[in-house]
Amino acid sequence: MVTVVLDPGHGGSDSGAVYKQYKEKDFNLKVALMVREFLLESYVVNVLMTRTKDQTVSLKARTDFANEKNADFFFSIHHNAAGGTGFESYIYNGTIPSATKEIQGIIHKEIVFTTDQYKVFNRGQKRANFYVLRNTRMNALLIEVLFIDNERDLQLMLNDKFLRDVAKAAATGVAKALNLPQKPKPQPQPQPGTGTLYKVIAGSFKEEENAEQRAKTLQSNKIEAYIYPIVINGTRFYRVQAGAFSQKENAEELVARLRTIGIGDAFIVTEGEPSEPPKPEPVVGFTITGSSVLTAETMNDFVKRVNPQAPALAQLYLNIGNLYGIRGDTALAQAIHETNYFRFTGTVKPEQNNYAGIGTTDANTPGASFATPREGVLAHIQHLYAYATKEKLPEGQVLVDPRFNLVARGSAPTWIKLNGKWAVPGTTYGQQILTIYEKMVNAEIDAANKLIDDLEKTKQQLQ
Ligand SMILES: [Zn+2]
Repeated sequence: MVTVVLDPGHGGSDSGAVYKQYKEKDFNLKVALMVREFLLESYVVNVLMTRTKDQTVSLKARTDFANEKNADFFFSIHHNAAGGTGFESYIYNGTIPSATKEIQGIIHKEIVFTTDQYKVFNRGQKRANFYVLRNTRMNALLIEVLFIDNERDLQLMLNDKFLRDVAKAAATGVAKALNLPQKPKPQPQPQPGTGTLYKVIAGSFKEEENAEQRAKTLQSNKIEAYIYPIVINGTRFYRVQAGAFSQKENAEELVARLRTIGIGDAFIVTEGEPSEPPKPEPVVGFTITGSSVLTAETMNDFVKRVNPQAPALAQLYLNIGNLYGIRGDTALAQAIHETNYFRFTGTVKPEQNNYAGIGTTDANTPGASFATPREGVLAHIQHLYAYATKEKLPEGQVLVDPRFNLVARGSAPTWIKLNGKWAVPGTTYGQQILTIYEKMVNAEIDAANKLIDDLEKTKQQLQ
């Protein structure tokens, strides 16, 4: 198990910085104890402290302690003084373990992300020849949270919510930096004889990161959530549980509430019944991945009926779509929607070959340009591929979509899921694409019916 030594600066006869009746040592201890609490609550980690109360501990005793315990990380917590404001972090300015800088970056950023919300000045990631940094043999970081002798900083230091937020950010940063495993939280179990438990699962993910993201979203909406892994048909999923109830109505209520905050894929798992058959968690809706069914001829005719000048791109959409396992025919429907039947009535000009509005974040941004129609279609298909899958590009394919890496990979397996992602807010974006697609499907059916008619007539003539 990873061992972290928390070092609340000063203590006992050494007050650290003093301002009015306030002493640095007290703030250091308060924050450090909170960091310990957050770490132990959520992560599998061994946390040791150089002091847990107001006592005098020499610098040497602190570093000796960490070295003796063979700690993996030494984290010293201080507050600043002497004319300044804001947060800063320090690592040793001499030879350091290779990971120290990266650890500083992760923890520093995590704290700044929180302190930014309090308009705290970010003084940066610094290096210095501090005793505790120099004499510890492991990765070591020292933070100076705020300035005790700055009135505005002091007001924040006296705000418990601020200190808790900083401590939580510090703990999260430490956990990220050291890759600490998350602790499974105790799950409410059905009591014998009380029957069934209805668990609300606010999403189930193959990637733990995505589950964490979802849990964060829930927490920012004041919904407690925790993550647990489950293996279904040999595949590991990370489930985000948002609640567990003995009454089904309560669980359903929560599912409805989740829907109002944009979480439409929540479901209820029933436990405590004789057996719970494992259910696969399928993608619901018309997928972006798949095979095309329409012919290039039908689609080109469909477009030209509205805009005779339109380029004949259907074959490119079918071929490139096939290569990526993306429905090229539906992608063309999207292009029709984006370009208004290739009349380019929006910000994108025809010569950009940008059929999907890639990079047109607002009405004044013309977006990406592509050298040829082929490259434009390729970028479009690659952008869909980014949304629909987490796979690498197919063998031998070169990336031309300039925004591929900005996409939350796999976040939209269906066309409807593009709502609010490809087009913002775009609550009907996917539906509009599918409406055009459906019209083309009907055109194909009409063409097929006409073909059948012709065949029937031919048969009759032969009789
Ligand atoms: Zn200090």
